[in-house]
Amino acid sequence: MNTSANVSNPTSITSVTSTNAAMQQRAALRIPGAVNSPVRAFRSVGGTPYFVERGQGAYVWDVEGNRYIDYVQSYGASILGHANPRVVEAIQGQATKGTTFGATTPGEVALAEEICSRVPGAEQIRLVSSGTEATMSAIRLARGATGRSRIVKFEGNYHGHSDALLAAAGSGVAEGVVTDSHPDSAGVPGAAVADTIVMPYNVVPHLDDSVALVIVEPVAANMGLVTPEPGFLEGLRAECDRVGALLVFDEVITGFRIGVGGASQFFGITPDIWCYGKVIGGGLPVGAFAASTELMKNLAPLGPVYQAGTLSGNPLATAAGLAVLAELTSDAYGQLVNNAMRLADGLRDAFDSAGVSAVVPRFGPLVGVFFGSRTPVDYASAGESVALGIYPRFFHGMLERSVAFAPGPWEVFFPSLAHSSEDLEATIEAAFEVARGLVDD
Ligand code: PLP
Repeated sequence: MNTSANVSNPTSITSVTSTNAAMQQRAALRIPGAVNSPVRAFRSVGGTPYFVERGQGAYVWDVEGNRYIDYVQSYGASILGHANPRVVEAIQGQATKGTTFGATTPGEVALAEEICSRVPGAEQIRLVSSGTEATMSAIRLARGATGRSRIVKFEGNYHGHSDALLAAAGSGVAEGVVTDSHPDSAGVPGAAVADTIVMPYNVVPHLDDSVALVIVEPVAANMGLVTPEPGFLEGLRAECDRVGALLVFDEVITGFRIGVGGASQFFGITPDIWCYGKVIGGGLPVGAFAASTELMKNLAPLGPVYQAGTLSGNPLATAAGLAVLAELTSDAYGQLVNNAMRLADGLRDAFDSAGVSAVVPRFGPLVGVFFGSRTPVDYASAGESVALGIYPRFFHGMLERSVAFAPGPWEVFFPSLAHSSEDLEATIEAAFEVARGLVDD
């Protein structure tokens, strides 16, 4: 045993230094950029990130004891708010029985049944551990099933960080963390994206029979909030059918958020493959992809398309996910949309009364903000708003008034079921003050 003096003592979190700045310094020594996911680094808004010590409902508290009304909500994973008692109970109950086994558990079966029962056309589902894994696996399945290589994605749609999808990927990728060229990231060889065709959002591409799949965010939420124009999703379905390509809806954000059956049910369009994440894990690492039984026959062990995971279908995540879905009734969606409407209306009023030119798109429970007078329809027009450079000032003004929006202009806001009308009114009051300041600056 090594007992020498230079073996450092593990630092317990109770000895955490009590300022965000000190935590930032400490984190930066051992974690690249002091973050485990780039958008958290505040690069596009500037300043020192707050370090979250705990969360409850609509709030998070940082290590300095400051409380924020939180609209990040783990980028949408916490739809019920933080530490929801039913979710906590489900996780605790499962933790006492074991956290991972390497064998199928009843919880996985129950979550698969629950998801398929909510989504017309989704007959089978495979659980993975992140949205990235879900979309990566969906691509392999589509390529394996069709025997084709090419994939089509849309500019500004983010589908996680697998190599083939890191082209014009919006969200954190668009924040200058990496370049705008194709591929988006160093370390992704040109060959990895050679079969990735990037098209503008809201334009139905003309396909040919070399295309295995078209992957789309049915409501784009990684270039701010950009909604599909009438006919876009229908056009994709028809064009895929025409050439025998598979249509993939990336519902990692929209799934079980914009309605009981997510975007496909909302729009009445059935894709060939659905990808999920966030909501269905109740704040634990999860992802999933679903399809018809016929298509899923291609997956190992039934078919030749390999896909696997030590922690796939993790018992804690499935317990949390089931607890969340049980809460997501039609009434709950009504409440969620009401919260989003109040937030969006209030932000609009705040900007209007201050004479700040901004649009506040809302789709169901999702809310975005674009400064400038134009409602973006694609990545290029969203970028024009971002280039105005107003969002960082808005963000910091709100943060100073104890409201945490996402630290980047390409993200959306996630009002949760835990946000009370008092929280929303306090947010709007803060927005009125901040909007006035934007004009004075
Ligand atoms: N797809 C969409 C639409 C997303 O918004 C995200 C993440 O934000 C992903 C995929 C990737 O999911 P994860 O971060 O769980 O890998």
